[in-house]
Amino acid sequence: MTTTNLLDFDLEGLVAWCGQLGEKRFRATQLFRWIHQKGVSDFSLMSDLAKSLREKLAAQATITPLPVLTQQMSADGTIKWLFDVGGGNAVEAVFIPETDRGTLCVSSQAGCAVGCRFCSTGHQGFSRNLTTGEITAQLWFAEHFLRKHLNTDERVISNVVMMGMGEPLQNYSALVPALRTMLDDHGYGLSRRRVTVSTSGVVPMMDRLSQDCPVALAVSLHAPNDPLRDHLVPLNRKYPLAELMQACQRYLEFAPRDFITFEYCMLDGVNDQPEHARQLIELVRQSGKGAWCKFNLIPFNPFPESGLKCSPRGTVLEFGRLLNEAGIVTTVRKTRGDDIDAACGQLAGDVQDRTRVERRIVLQRMADIQLAPGGQDD
Ligand code: SAH
Ligand code: SF4
Repeated sequence: MTTTNLLDFDLEGLVAWCGQLGEKRFRATQLFRWIHQKGVSDFSLMSDLAKSLREKLAAQATITPLPVLTQQMSADGTIKWLFDVGGGNAVEAVFIPETDRGTLCVSSQAGCAVGCRFCSTGHQGFSRNLTTGEITAQLWFAEHFLRKHLNTDERVISNVVMMGMGEPLQNYSALVPALRTMLDDHGYGLSRRRVTVSTSGVVPMMDRLSQDCPVALAVSLHAPNDPLRDHLVPLNRKYPLAELMQACQRYLEFAPRDFITFEYCMLDGVNDQPEHARQLIELVRQSGKGAWCKFNLIPFNPFPESGLKCSPRGTVLEFGRLLNEAGIVTTVRKTRGDDIDAACGQLAGDVQDRTRVERRIVLQRMADIQLAPGGQDD
C-alpha cells in the first residue's frame, strides 16, 4: 500500500483525508498541531490520539522530511540548507536571523523556467515543480531544527519569503496549500503580511492569489521599460509592464492597506542609471495613486555565466536617493551570508553541477548525518 505524506496537506486537506479514515475534524486538527507545532513525525508519540488511530496512521501515512545534503552556517548567523529532492536535483532554504525577526527563504521549484539573465537558477533551467509537501518540509525542518538548536519552545521563524529557487506562481496548485499551512493558527500561525510571495510577474496567477490567499506580494521588476525588461525577465514578453502594473493595482484591492514591494536587482551599466530611476518614478506615478509600492534595491550577486556585474555602491545609493526623493520608499537590501553564498536568488549555484550534487548525496548517505527533527522533541 502506498503511504501518504501528511506534509502534503493544509488543514482542510488533512481534515478530508482523516474523514476517509472515519476521523472527525478535531482529530485532524490535533494531528496537524503535532506535526507543525511540535515537529513530531513519529505517530506513536502523539499521546492524545487513540492508540488505534496511531496504528492506522503508522500503516497509511508518513511525515517525510527532505533529506539534508549540506548545512552551512555563516558568521552572521545565516544558515543555508541544501535539500535532496531526488533525481540529482537539490533545492535550498536559507534562514536569516535579525534582531526583531527570523526569516526563512523557501524554494518552490527545482530550477526555473523563466530564465532571467541575472539569476543562476534561471541559467540552470527548469527541472520540476516541488510538491506541497516539499515546500512545507523546508519550513517544518528549519523551524524545528532551529528550536532544538537554540534550545527553545518559542517560534523561531516569524517570516517566510518565497524567494528561493523557482517561480512560485508557476507552481500555484502546490504553493497555495503550503501558504495556508504557514498562515494556519494550528500550523505556523504566521500573519498574512509576514508571508511574502515573490514573482517575476505571472499576471493571471497574481489575480488568483489575491482571491485564494492574499499574502504580501513582491514583484521582481528589474527594469523600467518593456525593451529592457523583455531582455532581463523574458516573461515580460507575455505579460508586459502595463499589464503587470494593472495586476498590482488589482491585487491591492484585495489586500487593502498593503503595498507591493518591487525588487530591483542593480546591474552595472544595464538598469542602474539616473534615467532608469526617472522612468521608474514615472511608471509608479502613472500606475497607481499615493504610496502604493516600495522598492528594494538588491545588489546583484554575480556568477560567471551571467556576464553581468554589480553596480558600484555609490550608484546603488544614488539610485535609491532619486526614488526616495520622489516619495517612493526605497531600501537597499543588506547582503547576508556572503561567506556561504546564501543571498536569495543565488541559491542554485551549488546545484548547477549535478554530478557534484550526486556525489554529495552519496557522501551524505555514507556519513549518515541525522539532521531531521521529529520523533523525540515532545
Ligand atoms: N522567481 C521569483 C522568486 C525567486 S527569485 C522571482 O523572480 O521573484 C528571488 C529574488 O532574487 C528575485 O527578486 C530575483 O530577481 C532575485 N535574484 C535572482 N538572481 C539574483 C542575483 N544573482 N543577484 C541578486 N538577486 C537576484
Ligand atoms: Fe526564475 Fe525568479 Fe530566477 Fe527569474 S529571478 S529565473 S523568475 S527564480
